[in-house]
Amino acid sequence: MKIIPDKIIRSKRKTLSITVDTSGKLIVRAPLRCSEARILAFIEKKSDWILKHQANRSVSKELFPGENLNEFKFLLQGTPCEIRYYDGKRLVFDESKAVLYLPKEKGAESVQKWLKARAKAIFTELAQNRAKQMGARFKSVRISSAKGRWGSCSADNTLRFTFRLLYAPYVVIEYVIIHELAHTFHKNYSKAFWSKVESYCPDWKTKRKWLKDHGYFMQIF
Ligand SMILES: [Zn+2]
Repeated sequence: MKIIPDKIIRSKRKTLSITVDTSGKLIVRAPLRCSEARILAFIEKKSDWILKHQANRSVSKELFPGENLNEFKFLLQGTPCEIRYYDGKRLVFDESKAVLYLPKEKGAESVQKWLKARAKAIFTELAQNRAKQMGARFKSVRISSAKGRWGSCSADNTLRFTFRLLYAPYVVIEYVIIHELAHTFHKNYSKAFWSKVESYCPDWKTKRKWLKDHGYFMQIF
């Protein structure tokens, strides 16, 4: 099987390099004047590595939004939800039907904005409830667009979560909240940290695995 790169990025570099992104796409970085033949030969040589990495991340392209968002399906707190274009002026979410009505002229940016607002409300409430239960104090909840991490806790106990965590099942979201709140006590991954997590989320290993297996979810919007 011949492997074709999804993207070739040329720049003033001297060597060729390949990466497989979280959605399984093969990205090649090449010198400005590097011939196609040389690129293909390089890929050929690295095919084992590429196939192994792509298999780990082999996810249907349908999982990722394209230009046309009509009928695009994604998970919201683990529940399937669909975008539908409509003639209205603003974005409306019908919770009972799990349909996000999007004005035709609006795009991914509006969906992102909506997801961020929803993430802020849901994660803040969850963090407040869990903090009470754990006796934890945090400064505030911030929503990021991070694609590399689900959440973090800063030195001053500001909790940050990527809005993309919204795609995860509710119990997984809870785990991430508990995890970051546990960091308000322990700014490390010591035994004490994990036992704190475990006392509020006994099944944390399964949830952590879910996040690992679904890293490509971070590429949605
Ligand atoms: Zn952590």
